[in-house]
This record gives sequence, structure tokens and C-alpha cells, in this order.
Amino acid sequence: MKKFVLAAAMAVLSGPAFAQAYPARPITMIVPFAAGGPTDIVARVVAEPMSKTLGQTIVIENVAGAGGTTGITRAAGAPADGYMIMMGHMGTHGAAPALYPNLKYDPTKDFAPVGLAAGTPIVIVGQKNHPANNLKEFIDWAKKQGDKSNHAHAGVGSVSHSTGILLNSLMGTKPTFIPYTGTGPALNDMMSGQVDYMTDQIVNVVSQVQAGTIKAFAIATPARSPALPNLPTTKEAGLPEYEVSAWNAIFAPKGTPADVVAKLNDALVKSLDDAGVKKRMDDLGAVMPQGAERSSAALQKLVESEVARWTPVLKAAAAAAK
Ligand code: ASP
Repeated sequence: MKKFVLAAAMAVLSGPAFAQAYPARPITMIVPFAAGGPTDIVARVVAEPMSKTLGQTIVIENVAGAGGTTGITRAAGAPADGYMIMMGHMGTHGAAPALYPNLKYDPTKDFAPVGLAAGTPIVIVGQKNHPANNLKEFIDWAKKQGDKSNHAHAGVGSVSHSTGILLNSLMGTKPTFIPYTGTGPALNDMMSGQVDYMTDQIVNVVSQVQAGTIKAFAIATPARSPALPNLPTTKEAGLPEYEVSAWNAIFAPKGTPADVVAKLNDALVKSLDDAGVKKRMDDLGAVMPQGAERSSAALQKLVESEVARWTPVLKAAAAAAK
């Protein structure tokens, strides 16, 4: 009898109201690049405290390819129920429209933005045995190399690719491109001296620059980073036109209910306020979003302004690279 009563109570609890309590099962977060790179790092740093707030595990799934657009296309087409979300970035949600004429998603229309996770300044790095010792020497070297230099990136439209073609267009250089499924594996090849240079999000390179396993030539932000205080800015080092910063942000598919997006945003904001997350992000050189920058509405505005800003610049840089 007791058993029956319990079963009846469970049936009531699992009725429509109860079924809607989100999240009721693990959430998948698509990282559209290989494990170990910056997008993966940022995703893992914020996902753990988010899981605690939400009371459900966030499972990271790396779906790499086509500069991140493969994973984002897949996640954009997932049911809009909050159980599949994604970590996008300035490439997938800012640069890609300029470089993929047949992109299967519109970053400004096909997502429910959750929130900005990190700002990530761009650093110009080279292999440890690179003959250049500063940005000016690097530019001279790159100009002399022609197509003999190897430039690593994470696929067309990625942050490293878009910021890389921008750098090449400013230097007037046409290197040989070596595409990877993410800048994690690209960094490994740079450490073993197989590629010459790349431009990447600071969070991927800080510890290797500090350890001296790769060289950094400049940071492309107006001010130096506290994580790499000895590294000059591009302005200080002689290429002031090269100022560019990237970011990582969480998105859900378009049509995700507002209360689900709000829960995800709340969990992200709590994660950014976590002392351990802040320390890790600071150590990695990430710029933590503050106050109003953390809202879903602010992310929508950021995506719109990034697409508008990057489209003409990158179309011109891509044409110059041909
Ligand atoms: N930072 C990489 C990019 O160039 C991707 C990655 O996270 O591996 O877009």
C-alpha cells in the first residue's frame, strides 16, 4: 500500500510542471575546436562551477572542423531546450560570415545568446628558435621569407586565422598556411618547432611564453597584459595598426525558452564571480566581463557589432592573401 501511495505521488510530481524543471539531466556544451586549446580551456574553467549551480553535469564535447563552424552548425540545429549549448567565439560568431559565403547559420539571428565568458587579447607568437627577437625583426623576417614561412591557424574563419590574415595583410606577407583543428594542436607543433608563427588568444599561450617554450613578439591590445607584463604592445613594438582582441561566449540555439537562457546566464555569472575561476582567468590573461557586459542582451549587441566590424576588414584581408 505504501508503495502504491509513493508511486502515485511520483506520478503527480512527474506531471507537466515537474517535467519542465530545467535542468533535469546533463547538459552538453559543444566546443568547436580540439581539446586543450583556448576555447576548450575557457569552456572547462566556467563549466565546472556552472554545473554546481545548475545541479547537473555539463559535458564538454569537442566537435572540430572548418574553423569552428562545423560544431556551431551542429549545435545551432539542436533542439532548443537548453540541453545542448555551445562555446562560440569572435571567429565563429564574428569573423565566419566574411569568410564562408555559404555559412549555414547567421550569428546575429540563429542563437539565443547566454553570455560572455572571457575577453582574450591576441598575442603574436613564434617558435622558440625563431631568428627574430622582437616584433620589428619578426616583420623583417616574415617579409624576406615569402611563402617559405609556416603560419599556423585553427581553420578558415577561426580567431587565429582571421587575426592572422589581418597581420599578414598589414605586413604584406604571404606565408604558407598550416591549418589545425584548434590552436591547442597548433601550439604543440609550434613547441616542437614545426611551425613558425601564429596569432592566438592569450589563454592558450601564456604558460608556454612564461616557460620559454615559445616566443612572444607582441600583444595586440592598447595596454600590456598583467599576465605577461614584459611583453610589449603592438603599438610599443612598431605595428600600431594591429590592434585586435577576441572573446569566448556561450550560446544556446535560437528559440531556447527565456527562463532557460536566464538560468544558464545566472550560472555563468555566478561562475565568473567564483574566486577560483577569477584567479585562473587572471593567470591565463583573460579579461573578465564585468557588470552589464555579462548579460545576454550585451552579447547579442557584441555579436552584431563584431560581424559588422569584421566583415569588410576580413573580406579585404582575404582578398589580399590570394
Ligand atoms: N583559438 C582558436 C582559434 O584560432 C581555436 C581554439 O580554441 O582552439 O579560433
